[in-house]
Amino acid sequence: MAAAAAAGRRSGPPRSAHWQSSCQLPGCGRDLAGEIPYARRFSFCKEHLTAESIEYCGITCRFCQQCARFQSVEDFDGAKRSCRLALLKRRAPANMRRLSRYASQ
Ligand SMILES: [Zn+2]
Ligand SMILES: [Zn+2]
Repeated sequence: MAAAAAAGRRSGPPRSAHWQSSCQLPGCGRDLAGEIPYARRFSFCKEHLTAESIEYCGITCRFCQQCARFQSVEDFDGAKRSCRLALLKRRAPANMRRLSRYASQ
């Protein structure tokens, strides 16, 4: 991925692109310097990005790889890392409206 020239950089000091250097999850704050690029990109440590569930703002959440944010575990099927909605969108955008909210299988 050519992240360098890609999408809108925020205005800021031009000299050094300053990544968030610690996990943004309240109460964690782990230093991301030694973490994988994936973790630095999302500003959360690997442990929290890959956790099956975490407490975030009083809600049990999991990190959604498609939406790149934490979502309620209720949005996920089983142990998937992408929420139900994102998977549906990827799979069959045209069929979205025909699917019931909670497909039984
Ligand atoms: Zn963390
Ligand atoms: Zn999602």
